[in-house]
Amino acid sequence: MTERLYYDDAYLWAFDAVVTSVKNGKRPGEWEVTLDRSAFYPTSGGQPFDTGTLGYGKVKARVTDVEADAEGEVIHTVDREIPAGTAVHGEIDGARRTDHMEQHGGEHMLAGAIWEKLGGTTIGLHLGQTESSIDVSMPDERTHLTDEEILMLENTVNERIRMDAPIRCWFPEKDELKKLPLRKAPTVTEHVRIVAMGDFEMVACGGTHPASTGRIGLLKIISAIPAKGKIRVSFVCGGRAVSLFQTYMRFADKAGAALSCPVEKLSSAAAELKYRLSEAEKRANRLETREILAKMEEAGEEISGVTLCAFVLPETDGKAVTAAVSEYISAKGRAVLLCAGERLTFARSADVKTDMNELIKRVARGGGRPDMASGAGIPECVSVAKKILVTEGIG
Ligand SMILES: [Zn+2]
Repeated sequence: MTERLYYDDAYLWAFDAVVTSVKNGKRPGEWEVTLDRSAFYPTSGGQPFDTGTLGYGKVKARVTDVEADAEGEVIHTVDREIPAGTAVHGEIDGARRTDHMEQHGGEHMLAGAIWEKLGGTTIGLHLGQTESSIDVSMPDERTHLTDEEILMLENTVNERIRMDAPIRCWFPEKDELKKLPLRKAPTVTEHVRIVAMGDFEMVACGGTHPASTGRIGLLKIISAIPAKGKIRVSFVCGGRAVSLFQTYMRFADKAGAALSCPVEKLSSAAAELKYRLSEAEKRANRLETREILAKMEEAGEEISGVTLCAFVLPETDGKAVTAAVSEYISAKGRAVLLCAGERLTFARSADVKTDMNELIKRVARGGGRPDMASGAGIPECVSVAKKILVTEGIG
């Protein structure tokens, strides 16, 4: 079994080891090597694997994946063959591991606070490219957290981060293990490794953790949404939380400058702007409708006792046309309206029988009801439809 060096020192970025086996990897150009000892963390418990290099002589093989097999061997996938028995120098990508430890350490603290303050149990960790998430099962089976609870959890965790409490990992003897106040029962029975953070979190975990809570830096909850009967709490920690804060501030400042208000008043300023825009749109629509109605009045001509109004309205708002058509038809009586705006609209009053749905289908692509139909077509469709009505008569 590979001796796992990260158990004792999670900040060990370089180490020496000997290759104990080598075989072809899953894809061409890949090999899988095992070492007698390794500081590379294999994917497990939701924490992704480490990357880095294994070097010997002038050769440096890139480590592109790390996993552990059922026997506890750590399998390193590398991009070149390294013969068994070779003494290698391993180097870990410390920035990637530090980021993982910040998210993983923060997850422990968040899960611990959810358990202590709300009685919720945490199942699983997904450490994503941008944010991480845990699924929480609440004692009353609810699937949401209130804004106050989210704030309380963030404050609890961040106060504990600022305490810079030590984080300790060890393998207790069975007697000691039985007495430990663990947040949840271990999933393994042998070689149970415990992580304790200050006096507020203790649980079994084989992962890598920062040396103290202060090195988690900061925790921010992004969202808490229902997911399969549980609550999915997404969060960021450490460097990721700092960049998120920077991004949000940059956009908030820009939005504040655009709306000429301080960041704290952005939501009320945006709501006010939205209201004023909607009122202005209503006013503009009313004016446009009136304008269109005036044009309809001008264009109307009498054919067999029916007012036929055929006209083209380029660059006219669709809503205003619809409103004008309805108003014209209902006010007029014995009227047919053929209009080309953004779309074709054919309409008639209830006391006329000619079918607008059939008419529009004869001249363009579209359809609708017998009294009103619409479709897509060039403005000339209106004069074609008018000719049909004049020739065949309006009923
Ligand atoms: Zn852990």
